[in-house]
Amino acid sequence: MSVILITGASSGIGYQTAEVLAKEGHVVYGAARRLDKLNTLKQYGVKPISLDVTNDESMEKAVSEIIKQEGRIDVLINNAGYGSYGAVEDVDLEEAKRQFDVNLFGMARLTQLVLPYMRAQQSGRIINTSSMGGRIVSYMGAWYHATKYAVEAFSDALRMETADFGIKVSLIEPGGIKTNWGFIAADHLEESAKGGAYEQQADKAANGMRKQYSSNMMSDPKIISKAMSKAVNSRHPRPRYLIGMGAKPLVFAKTILPTRAFDFIMKHAS
Ligand code: NDP
Repeated sequence: MSVILITGASSGIGYQTAEVLAKEGHVVYGAARRLDKLNTLKQYGVKPISLDVTNDESMEKAVSEIIKQEGRIDVLINNAGYGSYGAVEDVDLEEAKRQFDVNLFGMARLTQLVLPYMRAQQSGRIINTSSMGGRIVSYMGAWYHATKYAVEAFSDALRMETADFGIKVSLIEPGGIKTNWGFIAADHLEESAKGGAYEQQADKAANGMRKQYSSNMMSDPKIISKAMSKAVNSRHPRPRYLIGMGAKPLVFAKTILPTRAFDFIMKHAS
């Protein structure tokens, strides 16, 4: 039984994973901003915790509350994130920074907060939700992919430096998963392009995204929860779990195709 903190637990992958881990008998603290969405997780034994990954104080409070209650923290799952899609010319840099704050710096701060406890325990696991989008780039997703490529580099560095303290670091790299993510990304894309030079292409891509995320071609979040469960429970968790719709074939295609051919596929994918 492990004491687990998971962010982004109010929806999609995080919600499903919190449920699965709690049912396995772990002590799970499910964190997000929308407490009302977390309350329904209580039926599985998940403890809701209010946390905004862009707010230092709320992250400090959450970690110290867990330490106060449990005396330890075994697993941190950094899962909160969103897709700030939009053409580079259109997305204002304040929004680009917010995208990094949520997808990268929140993860970094929480990692810093739990590491002293994990080092003292001589054990711990940090599981970071990246994306296949940390290894390939989709159309008009510059800032999102910049954050997920950064998550990949950050996690690889972290794995090397914390291994001597008994801490294991895994990356979860989902493909297309049926959650709200695609709708939020499509809204950002459409909103950022309004009245600008990229409006037509952006609208087309946004509608394509909405169509994809409404269809059953996307994978069920359950398959990601299974990978998360393996990363939590296996004696030797893998550094990377690349899984879900399109993930393996697209990452493979990227490694074998010339850059322009891969660009062509991604540009015409939606
Ligand atoms: P959802 O939109 O369903 O869930 C996103 C979660 O992130 C919510 O629980 C939300 O909670 C939380 N979140 C967003 N902003 C903040 C914030 N500032 N502070 C705290 N929590 C925040 O999407 P998914 O479940 O799909 O996304 C989970 C992760 O998976 C993300 O990192 C995403 O990038 C990644 N991913 C998703 C893919 C997909 O196709 N769905 C593919 C590849 C990766 P709240 O708003 O209540 O705070």
